[in-house]
Amino acid sequence: MVINLNETQQAIDASVRKICAEFSDEYWSECDEHSRFPQEFHAAMAKGGWLGITMPEVLGGSGLGVSEAAIMMHAVTSSNGGYSAASTLHINLFGPHAVVVHGTPEQKAEFLVPLIRGEQKACFGVTEPDAGLDTTSITTFAAKAPGGYRVSGRKLWTSTGQVAHKILLLTRTTPKAECKRPTDGMTLFYTDLDRTKVEVRRIKKMGRNAVDSNAVFIDNLFIPETHRIGEEGRGFYYLLDSLNPERILVGIESVGLGRDALRRASNYARERVVFGRPIGMNQGIQHPLAESWTALESAYWMCLRAAWLYDNKQACGAEANAAKFLGARAAFDACTRAVMTHGGMGYAREYQVERLFRESILPRFTPVTEQLILSFIAEKVLGLPKSY
Ligand SMILES: Cc1cc2nc3c(=O)[nH]c(=O)nc-3n(C[C@H](O)[C@H](O)[C@H](O)COP(=O)(O)OP(=O)(O)OC[C@H]3O[C@@H](n4cnc5c(N)ncnc54)[C@H](O)[C@@H]3O)c2cc1C
Repeated sequence: MVINLNETQQAIDASVRKICAEFSDEYWSECDEHSRFPQEFHAAMAKGGWLGITMPEVLGGSGLGVSEAAIMMHAVTSSNGGYSAASTLHINLFGPHAVVVHGTPEQKAEFLVPLIRGEQKACFGVTEPDAGLDTTSITTFAAKAPGGYRVSGRKLWTSTGQVAHKILLLTRTTPKAECKRPTDGMTLFYTDLDRTKVEVRRIKKMGRNAVDSNAVFIDNLFIPETHRIGEEGRGFYYLLDSLNPERILVGIESVGLGRDALRRASNYARERVVFGRPIGMNQGIQHPLAESWTALESAYWMCLRAAWLYDNKQACGAEANAAKFLGARAAFDACTRAVMTHGGMGYAREYQVERLFRESILPRFTPVTEQLILSFIAEKVLGLPKSY
């Protein structure tokens, strides 16, 4: 058993960090303060070939696994940009997985190549205001029309909707009440975000402000049949394929964020002198930081263990959920402690930890909440009755 990064993985980590180092704290603060999409960072990662790390090689991607994508995203969030940097790229990694697996050759060429090259951006329209985590209760409806479908409905929180050219859209094509199983009757599309038929309204939010999230109103949008992914009615099952990779990535992105906060807290604790000695000489300062190191370290390896299972085609539902849970908790605690270590200065924008802190609560409830993760583990691992 070798539990370490191999040479390729180490090279990925080093190369990604080199690009990230070109983007300073000032850059990320400015994007956050002005709610500005980090176009320059997106372009630099596209130029480095990183936007296609998980995409097929024949389309210009690298054809690598979740493990490599995880190492890349850990390097991204460890390097100043936190979740603002991660969310600039995240959708490219496993968002279009349904297209990779179930798309026709024409769809793959048309949809994935511009994503890999960084010429187009996509957003992910699943969550709805009246369904929440109960995805099978979505009501955005795609009604059959000559040559395609007419779609109306609402989506909520759709990230990057302000800058995206395309939307991966989950709809109902059969009302839930008429389906044998609640997971039947949903259809997935990858289509143009046609702003004459779709209003994308930005939501003001606590953090990760460089990357927008939106309320989306879809009014009689025509989607040609050629933009349907796979079979009608199977959309929910296609999305399931990408859930575990997404959880693993969010878990490890969180670890990177937490490690960045911990690095800043330790630096400050070494330098700040109060009562004639560095504050880091006090165990009350040391122990919470040391505890965060242990939590981040264990979450990191849980993420890579889950990624290894996925890449080796083994069941990884429990591990992927645990990875996301542990990573998010460890990041939130590390960021909270980083602010506390800085005392009043932790509240000042200049020291950056307040930006990381505002971002660190996000992975605790997206893309799935802690409660739902624990309910899943209770049911699937511990054999307890399903509670939701
Ligand atoms: C910044 C941001 C970006 C996002 N980006 C996207 C995106 O790009 N695309 C997209 O589709 N979605 C996106 N989301 C949506 C996100 O995935 C959801 O917010 C998340 O899944 C939680 O759903 P909800 O907010 O509707 O919570 P709700 O379903 O309303 O749940 C509220 C609370 O009740 C708890 N709860 C509900 N039912 C149960 C139960 N049976 N047992 C125990 N607890 C329960 C939940 O755990 C949660 O704590 C984003 C959200 C945010 C905040």
